[in-house]
Amino acid sequence: MRGSWILGAALTALASCTAPTPSHGPISRRPNIVLFVVDDLGWQDIRVPLAEQPTAFNARYRTPNVERLAREGLAFTQAYSAAPVCTPTRAAIHTGIAPARSHITYWTLRKDTDTSANWPGLVPPAWDLNGVQPQDTTLAALLSTAGYRTIHVGKWHLGAVGTPGSDPRALGFDVNIAGHGAGAPASFHGTQNFAAPAGKGDPVWNVPGLERWHGQDIYLDEALAIEAVEQVDAALASGQPFFLNFAPYAVHAPIQPNPRYVGNYAHLDAREAAYASMVETMDAALGAVLDELDRRGIADETLVVFTSDNGGLSAHARGGEPHTHNAPLRSGKGSAYEGGTRVPLIVRGPGIAAARRSAQPVISSDLFPTLLAAAQVELPHDGVTRDGLDLAPHLRGEAPELERVLVWHQPHFWGARGPGIWPYSAVRVGDWKLIYRHHDRGVELYDLAHDLGESVDFATSDRRRVEELSGILGEELRSMGAQMSLEEATGEPIPWPDAVDQLGAFGYFEF
Ligand code: CA
Repeated sequence: MRGSWILGAALTALASCTAPTPSHGPISRRPNIVLFVVDDLGWQDIRVPLAEQPTAFNARYRTPNVERLAREGLAFTQAYSAAPVCTPTRAAIHTGIAPARSHITYWTLRKDTDTSANWPGLVPPAWDLNGVQPQDTTLAALLSTAGYRTIHVGKWHLGAVGTPGSDPRALGFDVNIAGHGAGAPASFHGTQNFAAPAGKGDPVWNVPGLERWHGQDIYLDEALAIEAVEQVDAALASGQPFFLNFAPYAVHAPIQPNPRYVGNYAHLDAREAAYASMVETMDAALGAVLDELDRRGIADETLVVFTSDNGGLSAHARGGEPHTHNAPLRSGKGSAYEGGTRVPLIVRGPGIAAARRSAQPVISSDLFPTLLAAAQVELPHDGVTRDGLDLAPHLRGEAPELERVLVWHQPHFWGARGPGIWPYSAVRVGDWKLIYRHHDRGVELYDLAHDLGESVDFATSDRRRVEELSGILGEELRSMGAQMSLEEATGEPIPWPDAVDQLGAFGYFEF
C-alpha cells in the first residue's frame, strides 16, 4: 500500500528465510507465468497447514498438487485478499490498485447496477459499479505489450455484464475461455451445459464459450483444465512466453458434487462432501497444468502463483455450524474478520527455494508489481498511484520480514448475516488489527500474534493503540481517496475512523 512501511521496528529476518538454496537457477529469458486464482478458497481449504499446527480442515481436504507446489516453492502464511468478496480482489490483482483507491469496493454484475445489500440506516457511496474497464492499465495488457501471449481461462468477474470490461480480451488478454461478467456458474455440470435449464433461472449465470463440452459428463473445472493445457501447448508453439490466468469457478457456490471425487468424503455430510469434492477438482485442475509444465520441460522457467480471491464461504450454503469453516480463523467470506480475507498464497518458480514458508504479511495488490518484475516489465509511468509491493526479494529469500500497514475497505453489506459481515474499514499494523464498523462507528482491536481467532477485543482496554491505529487507518483512507458509507438520513459520509470519539462507547451488534 502507499506509505505502507513502518520502518525501524520489527525488521527481523525470518529464520526460514536464511541461506535459501534455489531449486531452480537464474534464467536469462522471461519466465512464463501461471496465475491460479481459486474462487472463495479458504485459508484452511488445503492440505498444506498455514496455521502453526495442522488442523482438522487440513486433514479433511485432498490437495496433493497444492502440497506439491508448497514442497517445491514458498508458502505465505499471512497472505490476504484485498477484499472479502470477488471483484475488488480480482481488480486489485490485475490493476495493482487497492479497492479503497479504485472505488471498486464490491462485486459487480450488471452495468450501472449496485449489488450491495441494504444495511438499515446506511447506503453505499457512489462506487465504481462497472469494475475494471479498458482505460485501466492491466497486468495482461502490460505483459502483452512486452511480448507475452496472454490467456484467460475460467471465471473473470472484473467488469460488469454489458460493459467492455466483462470480456478479458478488452483488458489485454489474447484468449478468453469461459470468462464473462458473472461470478458464478449456473451449473458445474457439462450434462447441463453449465447453464440453467431453458426458461428457468437467470441466464446471466450461464457459462459462455464451452459449447464443445455441452452434454458431456465433465465438471466445469475439468473442462477448463483441458482447455488451459491446450492453451499452454498453443503458446509454446507460438514461441512466445505466456501468461496464463487460470481462475477456476470452483469452489464458489453453487455447491455441487463432482461424482469423481465425492465418494472420498462419505464421512462428511452431503453438503460438506460436495464442497470437498470441489476442492479436489480444483486441485486436479492445478495438477493438470503442473503436469503439462513438466511434460513440456518448462517447469524451471515458469512462475506459478496459487491463491484465492477471498476467504472461504461459511455464512450459508455449507454443512454444519455456520461461520466455523475457516477455523481457527473467525467467520468467512464477506466478513471483516480474518476468515474473510486470509487466503492461501504459494509461489514456485525460478530463483525460489523449495519448501520455504514466509510469515511476511502480503496482499492481492502485491501480485501486480511482483509479476511485472518477474517478467522484467517496468511499472507504467502514467501518473497512476498503485498499491502493492514487489515481493521478488521475499520470493528469493533475500528480504527480512517487514512490518507493513495493510488496509481493507468495504462500505457495503454483503447480505448474509454473521460475525464481521458489516460495512467496514480495517487496518493491520504489525500484528495488530483494528476494525471500524460503519454502522455504529465502533472499533474492535485484536492481537493477531496471540489471538488468530480474534476472540479478545482490546478496544476498551488499550485506548492508546486504538487511537494510533484509528489515526493510521484514517490517514490511509484519506490519502487513497476512499469513499465512506453514507448515512441514509442525511446522505453524508460517516466520519473517518479517527474522527469518532471511541470513548463514547458503542454497543456491539452481532447478528
Ligand atoms: Ca470469490
